[in-house]
Amino acid sequence: MNGNLPVSRLRPVLSVEKRRHEPAAGTSRAAESLVLRPAAAARRSLVTGGAGFLGSHLCQRLLADGNEVVCLDNFSTGHQRNIAHLMRNPAFRLVRHDVIDPYAAEVDEIWNLACPASPPAYQADPIHTMKTNVLGALNLLELARQRGIRIFQASTSEVYGDPAVHPQPESYWGNVNPVGPRSCYDEGKRAAETLFFDYHHQHGVDIKVVRIFNTYGPRMRPEDGRVVSNFIVQALRGEDITIYGDGSQTRSFCFVDDLIEGFIRLMNAGPDVTGPINIGNPGEFTVRELAEMVVAETGSRSQIVYRPLPIDDPKQRRPDISVAKRELGWSPRIPLAQGLTQTIDYFDRLLAREYRVLAETA
Ligand code: NAD
Ligand code: UDP
Repeated sequence: MNGNLPVSRLRPVLSVEKRRHEPAAGTSRAAESLVLRPAAAARRSLVTGGAGFLGSHLCQRLLADGNEVVCLDNFSTGHQRNIAHLMRNPAFRLVRHDVIDPYAAEVDEIWNLACPASPPAYQADPIHTMKTNVLGALNLLELARQRGIRIFQASTSEVYGDPAVHPQPESYWGNVNPVGPRSCYDEGKRAAETLFFDYHHQHGVDIKVVRIFNTYGPRMRPEDGRVVSNFIVQALRGEDITIYGDGSQTRSFCFVDDLIEGFIRLMNAGPDVTGPINIGNPGEFTVRELAEMVVAETGSRSQIVYRPLPIDDPKQRRPDISVAKRELGWSPRIPLAQGLTQTIDYFDRLLAREYRVLAETA
């Protein structure tokens, strides 16, 4: 596919009133608030994986800040409904493309989020996951090098594997199985980080690498397979809630609005702040505690059932966010209970819509 786009002048920054548009389903409260930037700061941003969960929130925030957005996605785990409300915006452009193939565009910055994030999704085609991480990073780094522009990489807490150090600081090198079912993702993301720093050192490319810890919120896919979406959807449908293992493993859950604020601060930081930098919520919960919170909040009659623990499932996860606090003045604001309420509300509306469609077509 020819991904080349026509060169277009950056549109002038519109007034707040003109840029404000009705929030769509899945629009979170903080993302609705508009941040003004001086007109000179408006940029043309390429967001790969822009139709996914995090990517769609990022596109929305960049548009609200007065930028143009080129959203690139192969729609493997992304969905049209995540960006439907942005399609009307003349500053938004959608390109269907796979990052494993080179892509050229007249953009001012690159945000590389393309990659399935849920274990069932990234394990479905592990070779393609590895290609997405490695060839995708190479292709986009080449574009950044040729254009002399800043590039952001969505890395992951999975680079720490099943960590022997707790909580995890950026200086910890991790404990990763190179040949297990999670390796295509974990090692792919580690190789991508290596490429980012090699391009930085060898070619002076301006890089920003963030290590994202488990993030949840509106626009996760109901069938995604990650724990928060699984538990909420199961609870709302009255199905069994599936805890893998005994539920004593821990995770730290960050609400999407907090994460996106961290992204923006990192991308706007000076060139010396390259990362890798942890962004996540240090609140740590067992998977069983999460299940109980979801049952209580939904008022569901679902039963909790136990299923085998997947291979190489990390036992614990909590970010050390001292660097983010110091370098970006960032820390999360939205506690798990509050974020869960917004996420449950989103899935409630989404599932109700799906049932209506099913009933109408039956
Ligand atoms: P997601 O699956 O909702 O979004 C990924 C998007 O990338 C989808 O729209 C998908 O269609 C697209 N994509 C996948 N492979 C592609 C390819 N080869 N070419 C073009 N597009 C492709 O996942 P998400 O939670 O939004 O994650 C976004 C990024 O953040 C990913 O890189 C992921 O590894 C990273 N991350 C997310 C989390 C989290 O908790 N959400 C945690 C750590 C890292
Ligand atoms: N998990 C679970 N039930 C589910 C889905 C996931 O108990 O229906 C567990 C999973 O085994 C892991 C934790 O929840 O211990 C977080 O899983 P997720 O896939 O969300 O993220 P990751 O393992 O990549 O952190």
